Amino acid sequence: MGDRLIPLIPTDRYPAPHPLLYIGDRLSVGFERRMGAWNVIGDVEANRPAGHRNQKMNRKPPNAVKKALRDEVGFGCPVPDCGSPYLEWHHFDPPWHVEEHHRPEGMIALCREHHIQADNGAFTVDQMRQFKENGKQNWAQVKGRFNWMRNRLLLKLGGNFFYETPCILTIKGKRVIWFERDSDNYLLLNLVMLTTTGQPRAQIVNNEWLSAVNEADILCPPAAKSLRISYTNGDMVSIEFIELNSIAEAAQRYRDANFQNWGIVKYPITAVEVTHNVAGVMEFSGNATKFGTMVGLNLFTAYCVNAIVIE
Ligand SMILES: [Zn+2]
Repeated sequence: MGDRLIPLIPTDRYPAPHPLLYIGDRLSVGFERRMGAWNVIGDVEANRPAGHRNQKMNRKPPNAVKKALRDEVGFGCPVPDCGSPYLEWHHFDPPWHVEEHHRPEGMIALCREHHIQADNGAFTVDQMRQFKENGKQNWAQVKGRFNWMRNRLLLKLGGNFFYETPCILTIKGKRVIWFERDSDNYLLLNLVMLTTTGQPRAQIVNNEWLSAVNEADILCPPAAKSLRISYTNGDMVSIEFIELNSIAEAAQRYRDANFQNWGIVKYPITAVEVTHNVAGVMEFSGNATKFGTMVGLNLFTAYCVNAIVIE
């Protein structure tokens, strides 16, 4: 007799000889008959006993590790004269290809440009240790910029929406969140963070943001479309730019919104989603605006000069 071909996936003609395969006492892989054919079921890796598994570590570090690394360098890339807040996570002692690990002592936060240079050997292990040690003293302030330049924007604040409205929030005669237009008619975001502590807070001036010196955390991924700044007393602000191509996309993102008046929005539209919490006093969360006993949500305001004015 010649060689016989054994199909990899058993078919009706060649019924599965071992419908369930066990290694030790764990189900490793099984077959089930579906639509006239046999299909493999079960996750071979997940069911393989520990020690026999091809363990692949996720290259993304856990959030607590990322937070420790960006805090260590004062929220700015520690390479001299850089200071970029758009940080990535570099494994250097040992490098990732030598050992897959997420131990903060062998990792450092770097901007994308210096991360590539580090991967190609620009910095010695000793130099990177020094960056880690001195990182906090390097930058009193960090700054960044939103490069989303648009003529029309939809601003979302505390569960409410504002379209073609230049000044969103004014308190006691002072603007808190508003837009300016540049010479090309692009809208530029401005925001003065509020606090009850009297301490300095971050601000955004014409799309450029600047930290104070006392942040608990600054989260600012290299895509530069979002920013989250927080303080130990609970004050925080977050900004995210997102493109919406149709009202269907808007409806998917803002499931609770009341779309009755949204017909005047021209798509595509860029939404700027702002949340701001002034600890214990005022909260503009993802889905509601609260101050004191007042709660507001799902308002849609368009073509208004001053949307929210608090005296
Ligand atoms: Zn850098």
